[in-house]
Amino acid sequence: MTAPWRATVLTLFPEMFPGPLGVSLAGKALSSGLWDLEARDIRASATDRHRSVDDTPAGGGPGMVLRADVLAAAIDAADNAVGVPRLLMSPRGRPLTQAYVRELAAGPGALVVCGRFEGVDQRVIEARNLEEVSIGDYVLSGGEIAAMALIDACVRLLPGVMGKAESGAEESFSETLLEYPQYTRPQAFEGRQIPEVLTSGDHAKVAAWRRAEAEALTKARRPDLWAKRHGPPKNTTDG
Ligand code: SAH
Repeated sequence: MTAPWRATVLTLFPEMFPGPLGVSLAGKALSSGLWDLEARDIRASATDRHRSVDDTPAGGGPGMVLRADVLAAAIDAADNAVGVPRLLMSPRGRPLTQAYVRELAAGPGALVVCGRFEGVDQRVIEARNLEEVSIGDYVLSGGEIAAMALIDACVRLLPGVMGKAESGAEESFSETLLEYPQYTRPQAFEGRQIPEVLTSGDHAKVAAWRRAEAEALTKARRPDLWAKRHGPPKNTTDG
């Protein structure tokens, strides 16, 4: 028997977990032991009598910075999380993509450090070899929601979590295409019908329609993804 995929989260707000990860797909999988979650309080590793975890930035400036010594001690105390990638949620990190999610989900789990305030002391990133991971080009007030996004994306790919194995293969980004439009009953909604091809029973036609829709959507909405698939658009005007 192999151990379940394990997320160990280091946070100043362990009460935020499992939160949204405790319901629906991820929640059911959590209670049935398909994966495992431990939220550990960084503050438990504080050493002074005020249990302080942060201090003012060296060189001045606004806000507070998470202390290297406290965070390092919290990481070292997470003895359940040996041999897993050590991640730090960070807006300047490696962008979280479906390919990266697949890579993480295929491994044994992850140790996920959640920053707060202005971020964390650079030295702990280096000394504990943390890989910085970003969920997008915007700034959250803390790493917890980012960690939840990462964990949720991984967990739904674990064997047995999603109903049908296929439902993971066809959706957005699996082939760097956005997903085709979905419909369900009723057949008519405010005068709009379900596209006829989808109720034709012709599986080949349905597949071709979905493919064409996915390609059109990707071209229109995400020229960056489309270019990755097909190479940059050729300049035919020649100056
Ligand atoms: N001063 C920092 C922002 C700190 S935000 C800067 O300008 O880069 C506080 C914490 O929220 C960060 O340490 C990080 O853990 C988390 N966070 C904020 N935005 C994020 C994002 N886009 N992706 C991942 N984590 C993020």
